[in-house]
Order: sequence, then structure tokens, then C-alpha cells
Amino acid sequence: MRYVSTRGSAPELGFAEVLLAGLATDGGLYMPTSWPTLPVSSGIGYAALASAVMRPYLNDEIDDAAFSQMCRDAYSTFRHPETVPLVEIGPNEWLMELFHGPTLAFKDVALQLVGRLFDHVLTQRNERVMIVGATSGDTGSAAIDGVKSCKNVDIVILYPAGRVSDVQRRQMTTVVAPNVHTLAIDGTFDDCQDLVKAMFNDLAFREELNLSAVNSINWARIMAQIVYYVAAIEALGNQPVSFSVPTGNFGNALAGFIAREMGAPVEKLIIGSNTNDILTRFFDTQNMQTNGVVATLSPSMDIQVSSNFERLLFEMNDRDGLATARQMSAFRSSGELRVEAEQYAIWATPVFRAARCDDAQTLATMADVYRQSGLLIDPHTAVGLSAARQQGPSEVPVVTLATAHPAKFPEAVQRATGVHPELPEHLADLLERPEQSTSMGKDLVTVQNFVRSVAQG
Ligand SMILES: *Cc1c(COP(=O)(O)O)cnc(C)c1O
Repeated sequence: MRYVSTRGSAPELGFAEVLLAGLATDGGLYMPTSWPTLPVSSGIGYAALASAVMRPYLNDEIDDAAFSQMCRDAYSTFRHPETVPLVEIGPNEWLMELFHGPTLAFKDVALQLVGRLFDHVLTQRNERVMIVGATSGDTGSAAIDGVKSCKNVDIVILYPAGRVSDVQRRQMTTVVAPNVHTLAIDGTFDDCQDLVKAMFNDLAFREELNLSAVNSINWARIMAQIVYYVAAIEALGNQPVSFSVPTGNFGNALAGFIAREMGAPVEKLIIGSNTNDILTRFFDTQNMQTNGVVATLSPSMDIQVSSNFERLLFEMNDRDGLATARQMSAFRSSGELRVEAEQYAIWATPVFRAARCDDAQTLATMADVYRQSGLLIDPHTAVGLSAARQQGPSEVPVVTLATAHPAKFPEAVQRATGVHPELPEHLADLLERPEQSTSMGKDLVTVQNFVRSVAQG
């Protein structure tokens, strides 16, 4: 199993190189050269299922026993015996709770494993890396938690100042570890993401610091997210299942698309957007057009451009990297990208549906669920559930991916339901812990100087 760039002019790499590189040198994203089929399994538990589903992607570069152990260790950090439990909330209506990991968001599912993969590969190679990442809230804390004990990793996380929740910010800024640093950027999440991309595109800087990424462009994260789609389908008796996915950078939804390519009976993938609805508009019109970013109750989805969409575009272009590169560069300059109706009909029509959900609908959905089942859900999950309900009744089970614990967004939950969600015990004193963070403007050179100053390598 080798990996190619979606922009067609970076070298083909193996798994470990792709893990460490994140973005390809031509600015593209890595994709495996083929889709392996799913293993035959049943009732083996989440960690064992995870190693079985992912093994073909490792290109025989990671020892089987070591990888199985990494999966067991990663998923033992989840505080629920079923790791990612399914909860029935109505006829054919389910939630899959992906938020029982250490930082209370679904990103732990991937990043607890990716941190361990980094440690393993870097130890083998006797190398050190500097991870830089942008977060709209949840990636940062999940990445920090995933690598805070790594011996050979430094990490700098950029977040948009004032645009992440208190809990999200504190989960990053209260971690005390010599290799962990956070930067509050005066700008939006897209500004943060642009700064990270610019650091990667500065090849001299990238090489000097041995830069690496764990944001959702990293292939290993997508790979780890395929597993829970397979687990949900298995738990529901291996019948066709639709999924509703609260979507930002499109990493989560893309993993569902890949599960389907691997043979899982994924019926429909419903893309739920908040008011930042670039993807919903794309799936309605086959035309991607950027707008400004607005702040919503679901900040982890407040994005202008979904970086992982490029991987779907690459498939829609029949894996023509140069055509994808041309389209992406035109998109960058014009803010507009159109997909041929024929390609759209082949790749998107059979599987993707999309809906948007504004803050009022988000609050109403949270209130409805609380009235109907006594369950508190977070605003991101509510966007997904609203998108699912907007499709009307379904003949197959519809699983909404519950991407964050309600206590991560207490103000919104309280506003919708009148109930204050309690943090789980391991985070009960979070609001009293001292914070440490550096503030700066969205200036590339200033940010690069900071990153250089904290590198231990
Ligand atoms: C990151 C995140 C999302 C969006 O996921 P993508 O993979 O970026 O589409 C949704 N909900 C929560 C809680 C998140 O943290």
C-alpha cells in the first residue's frame, strides 16, 4: 500500500513517511493507492476491530503486535466500556457517542492512536518533529493530549482568540508539559489554518524544524475514523446504515465515504453544516463558493473551506492529480469551484445528502432531545441530528455521530435545556487550573519565530 498526493507532483510515499509529513510537498493531501476490503470480524471489541480495519494501510511498516498494542492503549483511554456506544433515541434514530476519550470530543478517537504511532515511528528512526496545527477548538486539545507524553515531539497549536469555548481553550492552555505550546491568534480559524499551511509551504522552514501535522489533513487520522463506521454497522447487525455527520473540515464524513469504498454498507452520508454552509451549498449546487466565516454555537465547524474536501475532489477527478491541482489553484484565486455534473452524479449523488442548521435550530434540537429522552447533547451533535431529521423518515437506521460531550459547551446546553452539564470527574477542576498561552497577530514571520524559539530538536 503506497500513498499518492491529490495534486499529482509529490513523491509517492509509504505509511510512516505519510504519517510524519502530513501535507504533501506539492500542497496536496495523501491518499492510498487503493482501497483494501474490510476484514471479516464480529464481536472482537473496538481495539481489535480497529487494528484489523487499519492494518492493510500500514504498508507492513509497523509490527502487527506493536500496532495491536497501540490500539489497545489508545482506546483504553476511553471512559466507556463500549468505547463508542450507540444510543437509540427514536425509531431508526441513533446517536454514536464518540466523545468518551480524554478531551471529550471525537478527535480523541484518531489522535490517541496517532500520538502513539508518532512515538513508535520516531523512536525507531531516532528522529524528532515539531507538530504545528490549527484548531477551531477540539483538534488542539485532542492533539496535545495525544502527544503530551511523546519523547520526541514538540507541539505548537494555533487557535483563534476568543472563538473557542472556555472549556476548549482551557483543555489546551492548562496542560503542563515542556513540549506543549499554544498560540492565541488574533483572527479566525481559517487565518490559523492559512498560517499553518504557509509554514508547510515554506520548504526551508519546514525542513529546518522537521515540521509535521496532526490536523485533519493527516492521513492517519482519517484512517482511524473509518473504524467507528464499521463498528456501528456491525453493532446494528450488518445492515445498511445511514450516517449524519456534523461537518467542518470534512475529515469525519470522508472517513465514512472511505468505509463505503471498502465495502461497508453505508447507505447515505448526511453532511450537517451550521451557518457556515459551504459544503451544504456545494452538495445542493455542485458549486463550491467561499463566504466569510461567522461565529456559531458549534465553533468546531466554523470554517470557510473544508480542507479534506480535496480528497473527495481527487476521487471525483478519477484520481487525476494535475487536474485537481489546477482546480484547487483556481479555487484559491477565484473563491469558486465547480464539479462536472457527470462526475458529481457518479461519486456524490448516490451517497451524499446535506442540510444546514442555524443556531436557533441547533438550540431547538437540543431542547427537543432533552424533552424526548432526557439526554443532553452538544451543539455540534445537534447540527448533525437536525440534518438527519431534515431528510424525513428513513427505512434504514440513521446514526448521528455525537462528536462532543455536552459539558464541552455548557453555555449552549444550558441555554437550550436549562440544565448545566457537569464535566466528567477527570476534568472537574479544569476551570481552576492555571492557563499558559501566548497571544499574537496573524503574521507569518512572528509565528515562525515563535515556533523556532520553542523547538527542542
Ligand atoms: C472537529 C469537529 C467537528 C468537525 O469534524 P470534521 O472532521 O472537521 O468535519 C464536528 N464536531 C466536533 C465536536 C468537532 O470537534
